Amino acid sequence: MPEITRREMLGTAAVAGGWLALQSETAFASQDAAPTPTGPYTLPPLPYDYADLEPHIDAQTVKLHHDVHHAGYVRKANAAVAELERIRRTGGNDIKKVRTVTDALSFNSAGHILHTVYWQNMKKDGGGDPASDSEIGSMIRRDFGSLGAFRGHFQAAAQQVQGSGWGILAYEPLSQRLIVLQAEKHQNMSVWGAVPVLAIDVWEHAYYLRYQNKRSSYIKAFMNVVHWDDVDRRLQSAVKLRWPPA
Ligand code: MN
Repeated sequence: MPEITRREMLGTAAVAGGWLALQSETAFASQDAAPTPTGPYTLPPLPYDYADLEPHIDAQTVKLHHDVHHAGYVRKANAAVAELERIRRTGGNDIKKVRTVTDALSFNSAGHILHTVYWQNMKKDGGGDPASDSEIGSMIRRDFGSLGAFRGHFQAAAQQVQGSGWGILAYEPLSQRLIVLQAEKHQNMSVWGAVPVLAIDVWEHAYYLRYQNKRSSYIKAFMNVVHWDDVDRRLQSAVKLRWPPA
């Protein structure tokens, strides 16, 4: 794939939608002005090439989405952590900024976490059903009745997110069951302790270049790149969580 420059991508984005170009330009500008600070969060590299999810998810979207949008959440989450550290140290009137900075920490760290799951949840030539002997397959059947019933529920949850957000399959440790959730923005409508194992980003930046307003087409396409072995690996880790005293 030829190298896509940032400016070229901006041009494409501008054709697809002015709002996206504006968002991207803002991200580029702030990125250029302030390089990603070191902190507890880091941007993981994609586990595949930008074009590997074609034709379902296009290369330009993957590149913009990972290198600009996801990188922005990492940078701003680290900035919030650093700002809270500074506020604790200096105290005084700055203590009044805790609410604002905590809001930024929640939004950006939740965004970083969900994007990290999202990239790993996909692979070239993915899709289909989970392996017949997998834990994820048997737990989906136990908790949703069938794979088909789960798909219908999960895809409807993603489709019906109001505005920007996510459809999420999560393991909920207190009930020790799988649940389907929506997230508005990145952090709203979450359940304490629930561990996302499969997440689909339904912000317009995830699909607008290829699918324009057709979110349902993008959701169907996403199901064709799901990396079920990764979902299974996440579940096997999540089920080890126990709420004391259970
Ligand atoms: Mn996103």
